[in-house]
Amino acid sequence: MNAPVRTCVGCGRRDRQSNLLRVQFDADARLQIVAMAGRGRSAYVHPDASCRSRLRKSRLLAKSLRRAITDDHKTQVALAHEAHTARLQTAPLGGLTKAGA
Ligand SMILES: [Zn+2]
Repeated sequence: MNAPVRTCVGCGRRDRQSNLLRVQFDADARLQIVAMAGRGRSAYVHPDASCRSRLRKSRLLAKSLRRAITDDHKTQVALAHEAHTARLQTAPLGGLTKAGA
């Protein structure tokens, strides 16, 4: 098996893409967590609170997306990430919570 591997823009560790959330700009140039790849570059982040908080200081987001990232963008990602991970805890998606279930 050769699963795609991506770098988390929070902690900077590499992991299987299926273990990470995808971050992309939407049509209104707001950063969102998306399930499927849209147009443009994606960044990836673990669905962990620790990686969410690291996003604030990380330059990896700008590097992955090849765009200037403002504090507003980081707030957008943090809010989307928080909403997404809260949902995962109540209705886990396949692949994210296989261990120890
Ligand atoms: Zn991470």
